[in-house]
Amino acid sequence: MAKKTTRKKAAAPKKKKVAVPWQPSAALVFRARAILRRLVKAHPDWGPTLEFTTPFELLVATILAAQAQDEHINRVTRRLFVKYRRPADYVAVPVTELEVDVHETGFFRMKAKAIRTASEQLLAEFGGEVPGTMEDLVRLRGVGRKTASIVLGNAFGVPAVAVDRHVARVADRLRLVGAKGKDATEFSLRALYQKKDWVKATWCLVLHGRRICTPTPKCWVCPINDLCPYPKKTTDPDAPALRRMLPRRASPRPSRSR
Ligand code: SF4
Repeated sequence: MAKKTTRKKAAAPKKKKVAVPWQPSAALVFRARAILRRLVKAHPDWGPTLEFTTPFELLVATILAAQAQDEHINRVTRRLFVKYRRPADYVAVPVTELEVDVHETGFFRMKAKAIRTASEQLLAEFGGEVPGTMEDLVRLRGVGRKTASIVLGNAFGVPAVAVDRHVARVADRLRLVGAKGKDATEFSLRALYQKKDWVKATWCLVLHGRRICTPTPKCWVCPINDLCPYPKKTTDPDAPALRRMLPRRASPRPSRSR
């Protein structure tokens, strides 16, 4: 008797998952854009707060600005950028000398190493010039999407959304983050705003996070309070004290019944 042979079906090739970009609702786009219009009015001075004259200076300043305040970094870079003008200048000195020069910015060893290695990469791979694309920028040591977006948006005029801790906090409280996964805040804001507004939205959210929507937010003076769904809004802490200082309103006398 002939033996029955069972043929195995060839496994179908696995379909590649294609990430579908998040599509915000029309209502959310409307609210997000209304928020931006108000923030522009509230923070008319929006724009880069780090001082720079070239893309390379902005790159160095942004690396130094990690875990530090921009005003403090500006005080350091005013001196630093006189001594170091090009990538070759950072490579020419011993790393210990660079560490001393950036010591005041904190995390000085890590920052000095990042600037020096990024300078070496710029010299070796980009002819000493800062590249103008996200793909190339993030290949540099110490440069993530945030730093790359700051450089692209502010030194090259390329639309980009930079997400620092302020942008992340404010966008989260405003429920503007709908995309999922890594870099969700950046991709959500890109979906909500027109390209021409990406840099403006970044700076308005940064300034709002620094000035009003701080870790403990000042919701009672917030210009977008009515557009914000954050459930733990704060009230003026001085209000009860002020109320105690005001003369008490006489309570109406109960009318005598006859
Ligand atoms: S209302 Fe409060 S939580 Fe909402 S954006 Fe304004 S400061 Fe932030």
